Order: sequence, then C-alpha cells, then structure tokens
Amino acid sequence: MSSLANLSATQAAVGCDEFPLIRERGQREVFCGLTGIIWLHRKIQDAFFLVVGSRTCAHLLQSAAGVMIFAEPRFATAIIGERDLAGLADCNDELDRVVSRLLERRPDIRLLFLVGSCPSEVIKLDLSRAASRLSQRFAPGVRVLSYSGSGIETTFTQGEDACLASLVPTLPEETADAAPALLIAGAIAEVVEDQFRRIFDALGVGPVHFLPPRRSTAMPPVGRNTRYALAQPYLADTARALEARGATRIAAPFPLGAEGTTLWLRAIADAWNVDAARFRSVTDLAGERARRALGRQRTLLAGKRVFFFPDSQLEIPLARFLSRELGMELGEVGTPYLHRQHLAEELALLPPGTQLSEGQHVERQLDRCRAMRPDVTVCGLGLANPLEADGLTTKWSIELLFTPIQGYEQAADLAELFARPLVRRLRLEA
Ligand code: SF4
Repeated sequence: MSSLANLSATQAAVGCDEFPLIRERGQREVFCGLTGIIWLHRKIQDAFFLVVGSRTCAHLLQSAAGVMIFAEPRFATAIIGERDLAGLADCNDELDRVVSRLLERRPDIRLLFLVGSCPSEVIKLDLSRAASRLSQRFAPGVRVLSYSGSGIETTFTQGEDACLASLVPTLPEETADAAPALLIAGAIAEVVEDQFRRIFDALGVGPVHFLPPRRSTAMPPVGRNTRYALAQPYLADTARALEARGATRIAAPFPLGAEGTTLWLRAIADAWNVDAARFRSVTDLAGERARRALGRQRTLLAGKRVFFFPDSQLEIPLARFLSRELGMELGEVGTPYLHRQHLAEELALLPPGTQLSEGQHVERQLDRCRAMRPDVTVCGLGLANPLEADGLTTKWSIELLFTPIQGYEQAADLAELFARPLVRRLRLEA
C-alpha cells in the first residue's frame, strides 16, 4: 500500500543556487518505510523484523517481497486487532507473548527489530520501551531494538535510515589506540561489498567495516577515529547518529556509474593519503571497462528525456549518472527530501538549470509529467500503471533498491534498468 498523505497544498518555485526548485507539500504517492525490510532482512542474516501493524502492513510486505524471487521470511507482522485499537487489550502483554513464541521457534534470531507502523503509532504503543524490556528479558542471546517504518513518519528508503540509526547507539566503542578505520554506511548487495573490499585492500585503505554488517555479532566499532562514507544518499539520521559517536563523514558523490564510483573511491583514498599513481593503478582498468560497457545503452539513451517522481532519494545521483555518462536530458528531478549537505558533490555535477523538485503534490506533478511527455519516467509502483496507460514509459524506482547498482561492475546493469523499458516500448510499437 502507498501512504497517501493529504496535506495542505502549497507550491513555491524558488532558486536553489543555480537550480530552479519546486517545493511542494501536498498529496504524496510513495511507499512507507516498512518497504526497507525487504532488502534489510537479507543483509543482516541473523536478524528478524517484527512489524507491529495491521493487515494492510502485512499485505504491503507480502506484495513488496513478491517482487523478489528468493525472499526468505525473516520478517513478519504482529497484527494489531480491533480490541487493541479500541484500547481494550494490553498490547504489551500480547507483544511479549508473540515475541516469546517467535524466539522459541526461531533460535537462530540474534537481533530482533520491533518495527512501528501507522496503527502502532495511532494507539501510541511505546515500542522503544517494549524493546528495552524484551532485551533485558532475552539477553544475552537476543538483542531487541525498535524503529518506526510508519507511513506517518517515513517514506520508502527512510525505513533503512531509521533502522541503521537505531543500531548506531549499540555499536561497540572503538579502542582508545584504534587506527583510523573506514565505515561504509548503507545497505549494499554482498557482491558489491566484496568488490569494494578488494579495491580498498589494493589501495591500502582499512580496516574497513560495513553498516549494516552481515551478522549482528559483527557490529562495527565506532568512535573519533572512524571516517565514514555513505553508500546511500538517504541516511540523514544515521549520519547524525554516527557523528554523535565521534565519526567524521567523507564527503563524496555516490558510487553510481563509472564516474560516481571513481569520485567516491577517490574521496576515500584521499582521506587515507593514497597517492594518485596507486589510485590510478587500482581503479583505471575497472573504470575503463565500466565506461566501455555503457556504450550500448548510451546509444539507446542519449538525447532521451527522463522525469523523476520523488520516491527513493536516489533521484539526484541517478540523474547525474544518466545525464553525464549516458547523455540523457533531465526533465524534472523530484526527490522527497533534498539534503543539501549530503548531496552537495552531486548537485555540483548536475547540468546547470536542472529542474529540481522537493516533496510532492502528486496531481500537479502528474500534470507536469504529462505535459512534458518524457521518454522515461521513474516512479513508484502506484503511478506506473496510470502513466503507462497514458502512453508513457515507466521505470519502477523500487527495482533500484532491489538490484545491485553501485560500483564499476554494476554500472552497465544500472544503465540497463533504464534502457529496458524503452526497448520494450519500441518492440510493442513495432
Ligand atoms: S505502516 Fe502505514 S502506510 Fe505502511 S503499510 Fe502500514 S498502514 Fe500502510
């Protein structure tokens, strides 16, 4: 289900440095933060996500998980019933019973997230207190944490941000004499993680840790000697929490496409004083291979116009990649939130004058999209069908989260995600 918030509609066109920016606050059509569970449960292999929500939340998870082929059920929904909503039952007792049953049946669980939803927020169920109560009860074998994935508080990728931010206070403190360490924040596919680890080894950058880790027993240490780089652009709360623990951010564009990957790696290498010759010897070949691999899609995509509805917060780095490496024209680049600090290096690479929009008033944005008639429209599942019915070619933004897209080896796969719907449309027309 999409969260459709009907807020007072205001729209303002204001200048944002050299970019025209439309700020909107109206109806928005975007998944809620529960969606993040679908990729997070595959990352932390001994974790379990228990959504405290309604049947609607359970349906959302099931249909989002249905997009994937081999989803393992390391998530479930504890359904809040009508008695709970009417305040007739003690939800805490019921929640304790559900968690006890779950942990008895699944002794492999080491980390349990209680995930808040719209219904749990409406009845003001305090999941952080429940988590600390249950943590004490099941320590040391199981740690219980909580975060909100509700559509009232979060959109789509903000669920991952909330999840990782809830982990940060529990990360071990680095030792006082610890050498500078690199922390990569943001869930990326394991295959990509392995590629980056090999590159960091070759550059002499390390030790390297990833957040989230593959197992809850391998949480990365954090402290004043931690330099962290974001692998995803939607981690505002996680970044704040890491900085509160003393970590320092390495500012960089995001590792999407050959250029983005090189600039991201370069910023990290600079923080470790890796000299230019060594950097080139490690990255040149892979960068060149990635640029060559983009050739076929560039032929198809160059000169085509793309329109982004605000959804995943990946929009600005993707727009930079599509315009600079594939020659696409940027129609409107919408994002739910424009984090100027984390996106400063990305914005510097966008063509001057790119039309940005922040927030959403979905009807007005649909009007602008239909008037523009872009060649490719990147949007959530809820908007794709009506736009396709209007003869527009769409790309589901959710696929960009389920597919490994970061790094050199994935640059062509990322371009392919945008080329495929166009090829399909051309075939249908033929
Ligand atoms: S958390 Fe809210 S928006 Fe998300 S599925 Fe549940 S009811 Fe819908």
